[in-house]
Amino acid sequence: MKYLIKKLINSIIGFLIILVSLSFHSFDLKNETVDPELTENFESRYFNRKNITDGPYIFYENDEILVKWIYRNRMVEKNIRGNNFKVIKRKFGFDFNPDWIDQCNNNDSINYIQDFSGVENLIAISDVHGQYHTLVKLLKEHHVIDENFNWVFGKGHLVILGDVFDRGPNVTEALWLIFRLEQQAKKSGGMVHVLLGNHELMVLNNDIRYIHEKYITTAQLMTTTYTQLYSENTFLGKWLQKKPVIVTINDMLFVHAGISVEFIINGFTTTQANKLFAENIVRQSWKTILENPTLSFMMGNKGPVWYRGYFEDPNFTEHQVDRILQYFDINHIIAGHTSMPNIVSLFYGKIFGIDSNIKFGDYGEVLIYKNGEYYRGTVNGTLIKL
Ligand code: ZN
Repeated sequence: MKYLIKKLINSIIGFLIILVSLSFHSFDLKNETVDPELTENFESRYFNRKNITDGPYIFYENDEILVKWIYRNRMVEKNIRGNNFKVIKRKFGFDFNPDWIDQCNNNDSINYIQDFSGVENLIAISDVHGQYHTLVKLLKEHHVIDENFNWVFGKGHLVILGDVFDRGPNVTEALWLIFRLEQQAKKSGGMVHVLLGNHELMVLNNDIRYIHEKYITTAQLMTTTYTQLYSENTFLGKWLQKKPVIVTINDMLFVHAGISVEFIINGFTTTQANKLFAENIVRQSWKTILENPTLSFMMGNKGPVWYRGYFEDPNFTEHQVDRILQYFDINHIIAGHTSMPNIVSLFYGKIFGIDSNIKFGDYGEVLIYKNGEYYRGTVNGTLIKL
C-alpha cells in the first residue's frame, strides 16, 4: 500500500514536472524579462560604443523567420514560429503584423509607374542619414505623427527623399519607423513614398564606406557584413528593393539628387529609371553597371541619385530648368543630396533643394505643401513661406 502511494505521488510529481516544463517551453518568449530601457519607447535607444543596442533584423533562412538584434553588445536570436512576432512588441515597442511578411514576399506588387495626383497636403524630407531623433522631432512638430509615433497626417503624403542610410547611428530605427508609417498611412488614405538615394544604393551594393561604427560592430556580432543585413533574404532588404528613384505628385517631381539635361536628352522616362534601378542596379556589381552605358549613366554624376548641377554648376540656367520641367510636364522639382543650412528655392520655386543638413543631428527642415503654398518647416515647428 505504502509502495503504491509512493508510486502514485512520484507519477503525479513527474506529470507536474512535464506540465511545467511544457508550459515553460511554450511560454519561453513570454517569460523573458522585460527590459524597461528597450520597451519604454523608441526614443530610449541610444548609441554607446561599449553598449550597442540595435535591431530588429528579420531574416528568412530555409523557410524559417529569424529575428536577430544586438543587445548590449551581444547578439540575440529568436526563431519566429507561426504568427508569433510578440518578441518585437516587447523588445522594440511596436506590433509586427504577420501579413507584412506575405506582402513583402509578393513581387507582383512592384509598380514602376509612380505618378500621383490630387494630393492636397504633402511633407517631404531628405538625407536623414541615421539622425532618427531629428526625424522624429520634425514629424511630430509638423503633425505627421503623434506622441506615440502613430500616423496622424490623414490623407497627406510623406516623401522620404533618400539617404536614410549612412553617417548617423540610428538608421535601423529610422527605417522601421518609416516602414510602419507607410502601413499606417495606407489605412488612412494617405501615403508614404520612400525613394532610393545614393546611400541606399551604396549599402545595398556593398559599398559601406560611410556606415557608422556602430554598424561595423553590429555586423561583426552577427558574423556577417552590413550589406547582408539588407540582402534579398531579409525583410527590410526586400522592402527596399521595390523602392523607386523618381516619383511625381501633382505638378511636382521628386528625385534624390536631380534630373540633369543629359537625362532628358537621352530620352529616359521616370518609369524606365525606376525599373532600371530595381532590376538592374540594386545588388549588382560595379563591373556589371559600368559595362552598360545606360546603367553607368544612371549611377553616374549626371544620373538621378548623384547629380548636383542645380546647386553647384554655375552654368546651369533657368532655360535648362524649363526644358526639364516641360519634358515631364511638371512645374517643380524637389531634390535633396546637396546639403545646405536650410531648404532653398531656386529659379522662383521651380526647384526646391531640401537637404537641410539633418546629417549633423541638431537641425533640419521639411518641405511642406499645403493650400497650394510651399513652406520650410523647421525643427521647432515654425513655418517659413518659400
Ligand atoms: Zn545623397
